[in-house]
Amino acid sequence: MTLDFSAIEAKWRKAWYDAKINESEPRPGKKKFFMIFAYPGVTGYMTVGHMRGYSVSDAIVRFKKMTGHEVLFPVGTHATGNGAIAFARKVERGNPAAMEMLRANGVPEDKIKQLADPMEVVKFFNHVFVNDYWKRFGFMSDWRRFTCTIWPDYSKFIEWQMRKLMAEGLLIQRPYYAAACVEHGPVAIDASETDISKGGNAETLEYTLLKFDFEDGRKLVAATLRPETVFGLTNFWLNPEVEYVDVKVDSETWVMSRPAAEKLKHQKDKVEVKGSANGATLMGRRCKAPYTGKMIPIFPSVLCDPNVGSGLVMSVPSDAPVDWIGLVELKRDEATREKYGITDEMIEGSAPIPIINTPGYGPLPAVEVTKKMGIESLSDPRLDGATKEVYKTGFHRGVMNDSCGDFSGKTVEQAKDAMREEMLASGQADLFYDLSEEVLCRCGNKVFIKKIPDQWFIDYANPALTARSKEHALTMKILPREYYDNIQGVLGWYRERACVRMGNWLGTRFPFDQRWTIEAIADSTLYPVYYVLSKYANDGTIKPPGMTEEFFDYVLLGKGEPQHVSNSTGFPVEVLDRIRSDFEYWYPLDINLGGKEHMTVHFPVFLMNHVAILRPQHWPRGIIVNWYITATGGKISKSKGGVQSIPEAAERFGVDAMRLFYTHIASLYVDVDWEDDKVEGYRDRLERLWNLVQELRSHSQGERTDIDAWMEARLENRLARAHEHMNDFDTRSYSNDAFFEIPQDIRWYLRRGGRNGTTIAKILDTWIPLMAPITPHIAEEMWASLGKKPFVSTEQIGEPRVSESTALEEAKERLVERLLQDISEIIKVTEIKPKKIVIMVAPKWKHEMLADALATGKPKVDISGLIKTAMARAPAEAKKEIPAYTKELALEISKASEEDRKVMALVFDELGTVSKAKAFLSREFGCDVDVYYADDPNRTDPKGKARFARPSRPAVYLE
Ligand SMILES: [Zn+2]
Repeated sequence: MTLDFSAIEAKWRKAWYDAKINESEPRPGKKKFFMIFAYPGVTGYMTVGHMRGYSVSDAIVRFKKMTGHEVLFPVGTHATGNGAIAFARKVERGNPAAMEMLRANGVPEDKIKQLADPMEVVKFFNHVFVNDYWKRFGFMSDWRRFTCTIWPDYSKFIEWQMRKLMAEGLLIQRPYYAAACVEHGPVAIDASETDISKGGNAETLEYTLLKFDFEDGRKLVAATLRPETVFGLTNFWLNPEVEYVDVKVDSETWVMSRPAAEKLKHQKDKVEVKGSANGATLMGRRCKAPYTGKMIPIFPSVLCDPNVGSGLVMSVPSDAPVDWIGLVELKRDEATREKYGITDEMIEGSAPIPIINTPGYGPLPAVEVTKKMGIESLSDPRLDGATKEVYKTGFHRGVMNDSCGDFSGKTVEQAKDAMREEMLASGQADLFYDLSEEVLCRCGNKVFIKKIPDQWFIDYANPALTARSKEHALTMKILPREYYDNIQGVLGWYRERACVRMGNWLGTRFPFDQRWTIEAIADSTLYPVYYVLSKYANDGTIKPPGMTEEFFDYVLLGKGEPQHVSNSTGFPVEVLDRIRSDFEYWYPLDINLGGKEHMTVHFPVFLMNHVAILRPQHWPRGIIVNWYITATGGKISKSKGGVQSIPEAAERFGVDAMRLFYTHIASLYVDVDWEDDKVEGYRDRLERLWNLVQELRSHSQGERTDIDAWMEARLENRLARAHEHMNDFDTRSYSNDAFFEIPQDIRWYLRRGGRNGTTIAKILDTWIPLMAPITPHIAEEMWASLGKKPFVSTEQIGEPRVSESTALEEAKERLVERLLQDISEIIKVTEIKPKKIVIMVAPKWKHEMLADALATGKPKVDISGLIKTAMARAPAEAKKEIPAYTKELALEISKASEEDRKVMALVFDELGTVSKAKAFLSREFGCDVDVYYADDPNRTDPKGKARFARPSRPAVYLE
């Protein structure tokens, strides 16, 4: 039969939410567990990849709920920033991809029209996320607590957060060169790409702009990252094909490329672009270098990119392979030289000048490396590698040589800073900022660097805050383990972070200056706190006007006098105290789970804001990072305009199959490909498990036998493992046990003839609840098929009762299982169709020797001592076997793990165990089975197999 997963899911979803088992209320005296996943940004539809971390979170929360915890698992959305604005803009402009996507998702035309308004976009996606994704997946979230970062009540909370940071001296103001969009103002550039759509790894480069005096009083400005190389200058490069403009900056006129002038406008107060000329007009003339005063010629180079730096380049052929090869090429290129009047003397006058002593190189590293590699042309692709190599070694390990005046003997790193400061002070240089690669705002505009004279920052570099945060992080459960280690470094290097912006943004106004809007990372740090309060704001118990600093101070920090706070906020004392005790019950947050992009952005500031504002008992306890579901080879369906529709996937594969895929396919800490057939495989497995449950239900009349004791022991063991795995939030191992190992145990039980009603009831009562956290819908359906009510989701997964006898039962059954495998193997190899199987278990003296050997507790066996004792004790006919057997035994024990040795030490009646399994083995192999001690004189053993019998490994003879 084929199950209708969709119908099953819809039925249970409704039943859970109707019964409100997802709603959370404090239960004083009961353990609690509070978990969130990092709320998503409202930037459009999500893909099936997003559901990985969310589904794992729900599985963890459900397990906690089923193991004695009151759980809180709230959700919300992060609408701060420009994601919704950018989306609305696309709709307004009728962007074809956006329109197609909305239509493919079944959004009616009149609704699409409304989405030209960003606020409607937020409302729309809030609804999609909650209903089409999270409820569709059956999450145990308390929907009454849903919140969104642009709601007025949430804003009150963020205002309070900022006031607390200010009071702690953690808000600071200073000039800032910020990445900015022309329309939206400053944007954050980081790997999470919250604000931007391209260039998350771009860096802001600080160039020194060196001014070269030209004969007519203008200044040619070259941008460099290495101002100390001015001592090795030989010439100037300009692109004859490019337009250069005159830019009036204060009283000076600078020459630079037009794109550079456009960038400069955002970084200086008065920038005026006047004349312009082709680069060719300056060719072959001279300019005067800053600092050294040396006159250098201007040479043509097509490599001068108007979009990089100022579009003019100073040439240092001693240490820059590109400059050296440029000169080599120019020398060869007579046509170009003639065109621009560049003489032999000029070229010869530009010979490289040694300036840096670089370890591993002679005086002219650039000349040396290009010669060694045989590079002779600017088009040689290896030039880039050569440049990086010389640059790296020279910069980090080089020392300025004797020709560098006051800077001689300084390291390059020291000289660089000192040189820049000196030239800036004397007006021979200026600063210029640019991005290392192209960055685009979410709206599609180019991002540039802009000077903000009075930018506000959160001071994450504050040494006391950093120290306390690092110390607290050591006490947290942070997974994976590598991140536990790495977060120390991340917290250490975290610097001041701009926290407000001007421009067109959604978000909370900065309470100290309403012109600013609080940016997206700053308002998403302390928010797990707000889920405790959001329920009361959502149902109208508290209203934004009363949500003052005093209010939050009282409920979250325990400050103030209740009647006074009540008078000033208008909220009854009873309400204030309920919220305050809710907070004390739920906080601290137990786990914050989020994608790996949060490791260097969100998680550290989440931690530091908690430490900065809340009391220590409320600092968070855990972080889990999840890696991604990726789509190689277009495996994630592109049918919805680039977006895999989550509801469609849910319909096709079933939610439980997807949930099992997310938890079981791989460790949470690696990226994994979405593969349709894998998800289908999980769905097939769930159908088989459903059938297994139904098969189990059909048996109940069997007698109790040894296999029942084994099955019970096995279940206790699996239960113990389930708790261990979930203690480490290892949902993969957990689901492997619940969906693969336990079913295998059950099949073995049935194969061994297990049919006992009591045992079967125990199996179902243990196993189905273990599946429920991962695949809750099918688990409910199984539970209901047993006539149980109301929900498996509210049942308790028991504590395991593992004892000595558990291991013994497992060891006994392992003997039978191995016998089955060994005999099957012998039949396969010898191709004998046995008429009878003779099984010979190890004689008593071998067991005694094993016990003696293990009694020392050491993996290394005292062979001669063991032989001596055994010789004195064993029957006469065994004596000639003892020396050889001792060596085998010693080898086996030396290879065994400590765990293995514990199992080997278990003593039980092998003859009895195998004898009881005779009927089973006889049935399996279709012949008679005889069981003897290996030294029983009545045994049938014409081939002398008996001597191979070892404890737990009987010898076998096939007749
Ligand atoms: Zn923009």
